Amino acid sequence: MRIANLILDRDGTVIVDKHYLADPAGVELIPGAGEALAGLCRAGVRLFVATNQSGIGRGYFGVADYQAVQARLGELLNRAGASLCATAFCPHAPQEGCGCRKPAPGMWELLAGEHGLDPAATAMAGDKSADVRFGRRAGLALTILVLTGKGREHAGLLGLPLPTGDTLLLDSPGPDQPNAVCADLAAAARLIELVNAGGRA
Ligand SMILES: [Mg+2]
Ligand SMILES: [Zn+2]
Repeated sequence: MRIANLILDRDGTVIVDKHYLADPAGVELIPGAGEALAGLCRAGVRLFVATNQSGIGRGYFGVADYQAVQARLGELLNRAGASLCATAFCPHAPQEGCGCRKPAPGMWELLAGEHGLDPAATAMAGDKSADVRFGRRAGLALTILVLTGKGREHAGLLGLPLPTGDTLLLDSPGPDQPNAVCADLAAAARLIELVNAGGRA
């Protein structure tokens, strides 16, 4: 197995979760995330973001605000030596019942269709159970729960033990459980590099 693509949740995974962030000045990379993503880029892994932005559907901010935040994220990642291949977002409120709010597969189908992503060569990293379910339902090769953001709380919700080191591999995860729990995106990137080196998982 070689991981050629990584789909990232945004808030709580790549940037500090500021709860309905609409101000580009508030974009703050989680420590180590920029360097980790730069390393994956150098290794030829394409990076994507799939983010639920229900603040738009709830009327808290507009698409232009989301785009300004996204542009700032792009700048910070570029400065760290990483770049995103593409970004997908769900602008809907939960009660709209759309097909793109994670864990629904809409953003996977969009990105996979536009960029020819093979689920067997794609990983997902996120801090919530919805990210985990999204990755597992898409049949991705490797679904990772990171413990930044809401990750610790959601590890509890999913009945997962916490790693004693920076990564815990689950040998036979349930259908709503990840393949691995990683302390943060840096640990997730190391796991992907290990997998790609033929290490395991
Ligand atoms: Mg998140
Ligand atoms: Zn949606």
